[in-house]
Amino acid sequence: MVTRRKRKSTSLKGLGVKFGATVRKRYGAVYRILKKHRKCPSCGSKRFSRIALGIWHCPKCHFKVASGAYDISTQAM
Ligand SMILES: [Zn+2]
Repeated sequence: MVTRRKRKSTSLKGLGVKFGATVRKRYGAVYRILKKHRKCPSCGSKRFSRIALGIWHCPKCHFKVASGAYDISTQAM
């Protein structure tokens, strides 16, 4: 029996073949960080997400904070 490696599932949309593997890889890394489930620093709700570039919002307690474009922490990678 042939064992096949399971491919990593990605929820990537928008970038096709034409941009090349390097760009898609970079985009995927950033996109995964962006869509990661976060906890609201104010109430602990998991619905904390970005609503605009650099603006993070919690719909439960209406906590809004300005931070990084793709991540809540703005440490240099
Ligand atoms: Zn909250």
